[in-house]
Amino acid sequence: MRPVPSILHLDMDAFFASVEQASKPSLRGKPVIVGGLGARGVVSTASYEARRFGVHSAMAMAQARRLAPNAAYLIPRFELYRQVSDEVMALLRELSPLVEPLSLDEAFVDLAAGPYGEALATEGAELARAVAEDLREDIRTRVGLTASVGLSTTKFLAKIASEQAKPDGLVLIEAGREREVLDTLSVRALPGVGPATEETLRRAGLTQIREVAALPQEELVHLLGRAHGAGVHALALGLDDRPVVAERDAKSVSVEDTFEVDLLDRDHIVTELERLADRCVRRLRAAGRSGRTVVVKIRRFDFSTLTRSETLPAPTDDPLVIAQMARRLLDSVELLGGIRLLGVGVTGLADWTQEDLFAQALREGLAEDAADEAADAEQARETGEAEEDAAYGGPAGPRAFHPGGELKARRWAPGQDVEHAELGHGWVQGSGVGRVTIRFETPNSPVGRVRTFAVDDPALSSAGALPLVGTA
Ligand SMILES: [Mg+2]
Repeated sequence: MRPVPSILHLDMDAFFASVEQASKPSLRGKPVIVGGLGARGVVSTASYEARRFGVHSAMAMAQARRLAPNAAYLIPRFELYRQVSDEVMALLRELSPLVEPLSLDEAFVDLAAGPYGEALATEGAELARAVAEDLREDIRTRVGLTASVGLSTTKFLAKIASEQAKPDGLVLIEAGREREVLDTLSVRALPGVGPATEETLRRAGLTQIREVAALPQEELVHLLGRAHGAGVHALALGLDDRPVVAERDAKSVSVEDTFEVDLLDRDHIVTELERLADRCVRRLRAAGRSGRTVVVKIRRFDFSTLTRSETLPAPTDDPLVIAQMARRLLDSVELLGGIRLLGVGVTGLADWTQEDLFAQALREGLAEDAADEAADAEQARETGEAEEDAAYGGPAGPRAFHPGGELKARRWAPGQDVEHAELGHGWVQGSGVGRVTIRFETPNSPVGRVRTFAVDDPALSSAGALPLVGTA
């Protein structure tokens, strides 16, 4: 065990939602929810204002809408999140060559391997704290966002510390105090303890980490099997020697196929996509890894190539989850004219799957879906949601995507960047019934004004995201 808390875990606060608030002045201080907006959509990130209504990551979007009907609901803009993430990761790499990103907004850093390594050995925790405070300040200045940082002697405890630091805080767990902190936590805080393992432990009367730590290892092995039981027991004791691994290895697994003849039929394309997703999962599992972001790559008949991606709240290697995400991403793409290449990839790889919550939610969801699909469609019609879904191509399932397989109007997604020939840069606030509402504002402007146009107004075009304060 390290004598100095030199493992740092950084976690940006409500990252996607915070980026949206930073780039859209009218949303600052307001509830903002980013995710899949269709009837089957899932929340990626809720701003702290939205969390007060009980909305959280991985929640069904329909439930979020019930809890916070007046929140801003936006599609994710991954390109912008990636840019901001790159800037943050670059700041981390100034602190150490050992930076292990877990997702766009989360990473471990081994400070002992960097320029402060030697000084840390003598100055200890106080220096680690100062380095982390400087880092938080640098992130605020450079990208205008807040980050929470945890510092400790192991990865597990550094992550626990950053959770305790949220939002916009810093928590340092000193060497020798690890058990004290663990003693206050539920078994759910242990990496590798998902709902199923938690239930097994609960039936054995174990709900707290300290109860697990007090048992002899063989009892845990008896309950959870050799590898898992031993691993959980060690973590409960605060023993975690996993090193911070730099992003030197491939951070993604992907497979693709080029077709001799362009694929035209949507059902045929979906079948190919599922086959590719299956191959991709087999490779992922063979490498003993899991990932958070699913990427679909499509080359169309005219050789234009595009990728679509979606990020889960936690890493998965579940074939059902990955195939379902791939299908949903495909659904958001116009396929008229045929395609000649299709690919599926998983990025944001991790060595440990924190929990299988998402897969479980999906399985439950699928069972429900079969039962209440009709009721859902009815409700969507009533609320006008189906129309909105069709307008932006959100992930609402087959109904919203190919009612007849034709695109009738231009699609505008809430949150999407647009450029108006005279009024300049803005973003889509909403659309439906042939109209689209645009708010004209930029990251550095005051709160902008709202104007409504016909969806096919020739003065409107989609645009790229503008960089945040201090970026570019
Ligand atoms: Mg975060």
